[in-house]
Amino acid sequence: MINRKLKDVVKMIPNSSLAHGDEQVHIKGVSIDTRTLQPENLYVPIKGNRFNGHEFVEKAIEAGAVATLWNKDEKDIPQNVPVILVDDTLEALQQLAKAYRHELAVKVVGITGSNGKTTTKDMVDAVLSTTYKVLKTAGNFNNHIGMPLTILRLEEDTDIAVLEMGMSSRGEIEFLSNLAEPDVAVITNIGESHLQDLGSREGIAEAKFEITSGLSEQGQFIFNGDEPLLTSRVNNPKFKAITFGSSPNNDLFLTDMTREEHGTTFFVSRETQKFFIPVLGEHNAHNAMAAIAVGRYFNLSNETIAQGLAGLKLTNMRMELVKAESGLTFINDAYNASPTSMKAAIKLIHEIQGYNKKILVLGDMLELGDQEIQFHKEIGKFIDPAAVEYVFTYGPLSKEIASGAQENFQEGKVLHFDDKDTLADHLQSVSSSNDIVLVKASRGMKLEEVITKVMSK
Ligand code: ATP
Ligand code: MG
Repeated sequence: MINRKLKDVVKMIPNSSLAHGDEQVHIKGVSIDTRTLQPENLYVPIKGNRFNGHEFVEKAIEAGAVATLWNKDEKDIPQNVPVILVDDTLEALQQLAKAYRHELAVKVVGITGSNGKTTTKDMVDAVLSTTYKVLKTAGNFNNHIGMPLTILRLEEDTDIAVLEMGMSSRGEIEFLSNLAEPDVAVITNIGESHLQDLGSREGIAEAKFEITSGLSEQGQFIFNGDEPLLTSRVNNPKFKAITFGSSPNNDLFLTDMTREEHGTTFFVSRETQKFFIPVLGEHNAHNAMAAIAVGRYFNLSNETIAQGLAGLKLTNMRMELVKAESGLTFINDAYNASPTSMKAAIKLIHEIQGYNKKILVLGDMLELGDQEIQFHKEIGKFIDPAAVEYVFTYGPLSKEIASGAQENFQEGKVLHFDDKDTLADHLQSVSSSNDIVLVKASRGMKLEEVITKVMSK
């Protein structure tokens, strides 16, 4: 983490000044949250919609803050701690992160896309950590606050930072990319998330493509080449581009993917190296190919990359396999959902072998804009009654999934529930030990509670 004297911090933030306090004070780390702030941290009070961080400065000092930033317009400048005055504390945090990034010899990998950012970030980390000292975005800290905080956690000797870049509207990725100045930029895919704000898939592609705006000269751009909205955009000789995907037109294309009991094996572009990932789904093999391309950029051998991927540990609730005592298997993918990721997960269930009954428990996909009804209906129609035994839905929009599925399924096989308890009870009554259940919805639905309920019965 940042390890500097207060006077150096002042120099790193344009238009800032030390109001009072000892400029020799040593800063170790930066925090915006008094609940997690560590001794010797610099406190950065952020003014949000609901809270104003400036009001918590005493708590920060109690927790061990040795200095604080302070917005020039805020009154009651604290006297019991060194204070750096700035025009805007959030902007100052971002400027400090940018300056720190420039002072380090670190290489930066930026990852964006509609789905699979966190998964790909974890995979890239697994690959690069075999050989390098890597710091990755913790959890989902992928926005204009989380990303600067991640940069400020870098050590002087960190070799590579792996940064997730998220967005909800145009210009945000451009901002993050210009701040982080990635050496490698990855776009996992283009889906429908944030259609509400961006209007069309073209709009989404354009927004994701912004990740190239801060890409260093001679940097490496790695993207999903199955997506025409991306391939059509790449004619920039400034950076080298590498594509991955299922189509053999890609630089890295998927060959001989096989589902194993605990994961997936595959080959890349008909080469001899076999790769294993401890997760399911073709989309995860795609994410892994992006990670392989990143590994190659950093000169790792195929064997080393394969070793890294095999040891991958994912952040929870992303295609996580959970086995109940009864023997019933859940795929907990309740972390999030969009039409693209929903179809990817259902496709996996369609194809998966070795189970008795296959059951879908699906909830609402949120933030889809005015086509949301249609999107849900399409998911319902997408489900293959020859492969899936039951479809259970929960949530107001998911009624449309049920109604779409009912067009193809026999009566009684597709049921909509208004509460999770009844759904869990019903699931338990129709399922048995050798069955597999996919549980998937947007985060706001907390659909994993269905699994918890069944497990605790
Ligand atoms: P968020 O925007 O919430 O940060 P994310 O982009 O980080 O999401 P992940 O958390 O990695 O994405 O995965 C979210 C969901 O998307 C998972 O449930 C997973 O099944 C699905 N998913 C992951 N990768 C892909 C992909 N390449 N294509 C389609 N769906 C995917
Ligand atoms: Mg994420």
